[in-house]
Parts: sequence; C-alpha cells; structure tokens
Amino acid sequence: MKKTDFIIKPNDEDLLRTMEITGSIKSVERMKKNKKFRVDYEAAKKELVESAAPVLCWNRFPIKEIVGNQVVLKNGAKIGRGPVAKVVAGAQELILGVCTIGMKTERKSEEYMKGAAMMKGFILDALASWAVDSVRAQFYEWIKKEFFKKEGLRTSSMLWPGNSWPIEEQAEIFKILGNETGEIGVSLTASMMMAPKKSLSFLLGAGKNPLGSEDSLQCEFCPDRPGCKAYKIRMNRHL
Ligand code: SF4
Repeated sequence: MKKTDFIIKPNDEDLLRTMEITGSIKSVERMKKNKKFRVDYEAAKKELVESAAPVLCWNRFPIKEIVGNQVVLKNGAKIGRGPVAKVVAGAQELILGVCTIGMKTERKSEEYMKGAAMMKGFILDALASWAVDSVRAQFYEWIKKEFFKKEGLRTSSMLWPGNSWPIEEQAEIFKILGNETGEIGVSLTASMMMAPKKSLSFLLGAGKNPLGSEDSLQCEFCPDRPGCKAYKIRMNRHL
C-alpha cells in the first residue's frame, strides 16, 4: 500500500534545536544572528518544500507466533532481534514500511556542497533528514490515531533499524515488503544503505489486546541513550 499525503512543513524551533543538539550548528541563538546563515536557511527551507516528494509504502502481515526474539509471520517470514519481540508481544499483526522524500533534495544539497554554496548544502541536508523523519512520524500518528483506532486495534511503539535494533534486519523488511519498496523508488544495498539516502524503514505491531510496548519511544530501548543529544528532542516531540 502506498501513502503520499504527507505535509512537509518545517518548524523552525524544532529544526534548529535538532541541528544544535546533533552538532550541525553550534548555537541556535548565534545562528539566528548570523545573516548569511539566516538567508541560506530560509532558501534551503524553501528548496526542501519544493523538492521533497514524500512517499511511503506499508503493509500488514498476520503473526503466527513469537519464538524467542523472532516474530514468525503466517507467510513463513521471520523478523526480530533487538527489542522487536518484546515491543510487539501480544500483537496479531506486524506492520512494516519504508518511507522516503526522494532524490531531488539530496541531489540539490550535494550540488551545493560541491560548489560555492557549502553552507546552504549542509543546511539542506540537515533539513532533508528532519523531513524524512517527519514523514515517518506523520504515518505513525495516522495509523495509530485514525487507521487502527477505527478497527479497534491497539498499536505498539514504532521501531526502526539502527541503535537498539540491528541494522541487518532492514534486509528482512525489504524482503517481506517485496516489490512495494521498488514501487516507491527505494532500494537497499548489501551494506544496508538505502537509496535515496533520505529514507527510513520501520516496524510496529497491532492487536486487540495490550501489547508489549505501546507508548515508548524507540530511544527507550537504545543503548546509546545516556550520551545521545537527540534524545531530548525526541522526548519533546514524543515521536
Ligand atoms: S537515544 Fe538517540 S541514538 Fe538512540 S534511538 Fe534515540 S535518538 Fe537515536
């Protein structure tokens, strides 16, 4: 299934704080006073909105059983490790998905970075990372509060490969989704890098009964949390 009705509407406070906390800029207050930064930031924001082409593919897969740290689907596929089995415990089905904002923004930021507009390229790259995460978060809100609520289903916390969940499991997401990822133009390399780079894959569980984890952030299962600068931002957005 394909979904495209996402809104890329940069929120300055959220974006700038994310850039500050992840080390892309030193201080929001300092950057706000920097005229060149302000001009480049506004231009990059406009380009992001014009060039981003958000699209997401997703599907639901009935669960047969959970064995150890593996979720076994009724179609015979297995996916797990990390916190997956714990998070989706009790679920009747697994939802897998991949989202992207496409190649256009990425190409533009690379062009700027190679040329004389390095700062603008750098800002556009950071905005593109924020944008793809915002697509993932918008989908999570929609499926939780609109889609599954109508069916009377509860939804688990959402997980995406990396940090607490081994990145190699991304290959299983792509295998299980089959042609759907190609239909939105996203591919996966042997080194688990997605193309376009501004793409994300994810998983969550759904079911009628209470689930292993329903309102936690992925961060709560992450071993990097104590030193992670982005954690606070995620906590504030609760996504
Ligand atoms: S704690 Fe940090 S590194 Fe870990 S999942 Fe959250 S944002 Fe990512």
